[in-house]
Amino acid sequence: MIKILANDGISNSGIEKLEKNGFIVNTNKISQENLAEEINSENYEVILVRSATQIRKDIIDKCPNLKIIGRGGVGMDNIDVKYAQENNIHVINTPAASSSSVAELVFAHLFGMVRYLYESNRQMPMEGDTSFKKLKKSYSGGRELNGKSLGIIGFGRIGQEVAKIGIGLGMKILAHDKFIKEENITLRFFNGEKKTFTIETSKLNDVLKNSDFITLHIPKIDNKALIGAEEIGLMKTGAGVINTSRGGNIDETALMFALDKKKLAYAGLDVFDNEPTPSIHLLMHNAISMTPHIGAATLEAQDRIGIELADQIILFYKK
Ligand code: NAD
Repeated sequence: MIKILANDGISNSGIEKLEKNGFIVNTNKISQENLAEEINSENYEVILVRSATQIRKDIIDKCPNLKIIGRGGVGMDNIDVKYAQENNIHVINTPAASSSSVAELVFAHLFGMVRYLYESNRQMPMEGDTSFKKLKKSYSGGRELNGKSLGIIGFGRIGQEVAKIGIGLGMKILAHDKFIKEENITLRFFNGEKKTFTIETSKLNDVLKNSDFITLHIPKIDNKALIGAEEIGLMKTGAGVINTSRGGNIDETALMFALDKKKLAYAGLDVFDNEPTPSIHLLMHNAISMTPHIGAATLEAQDRIGIELADQIILFYKK
């Protein structure tokens, strides 16, 4: 029987599907140092990871019997994909499974930002009984999302899911993508009705200048942050920025400076430079709504990821 090590876990639905098809799945977490030895001594042919476990050249070199490396999620920054493929290892991921989870988190940040929930939730337990009126005054003057412009940078899978929710809320969608010129966005409603909107993308600078809120959905950009001081300078005063893509796509120092100077009103971050030890200044900042990289971490997405990985593994061994 073929053995699979799901080193960063896999949903029960994924395990059930694999086991029904005759695979053995182990979800015991093996430390990075012992991983190669464990793969070899237990004869694992498939290693499944999320973002924690690294599958680099050293593991690939030491484990000649590996047939599949699977990433539950999108980004493959933790896997030497090209090197694995050169060594005849099949590399799989689940690019679409978490798009709507990430898109919903964008709106969790957005709704929280415009009504100061991130700050109110910090202050109410401490001062809610003694300074209720003061807090009420502080957090009045919120804004609505309806009717505002939402700038989406990176109009791929997640960007398009964000557009669907934004359209549903009555927002004006502006989008920029390096490669996509135009996309049809179909909203499906509870009663089976659907409506398609065609969104044409614009130049980055036009999106930066004209959006009330800007959300990033690009891959990790190496070398330089896509959104730095210069790009923030082009944004509307009082705009809000959200990054659920990858840490480093926004220059964190420039972002904090812009928040302190009130150029930007608020920011929402799910991803950080230097994860898992982000800058303490950023963590302490009172105008930033923060989550610890949980964009894809819904039960529904984990279910879809598990099933999608299982389907691809089953298909691979059928061939
Ligand atoms: P995708 O590949 O479907 O879309 C990315 C889009 O960005 C593509 O359309 C591409 O043309 C565009 N693009 C690439 N470089 C660009 C640039 N320099 N300027 C403008 N556009 C550019 O990817 P996706 O599934 O939508 O994922 C988007 C991002 O979200 C990725 O960085 C991914 O790692 C991240 N992500 C985060 C979480 C989380 O937990 N927060 C979960 C899943 C994905």
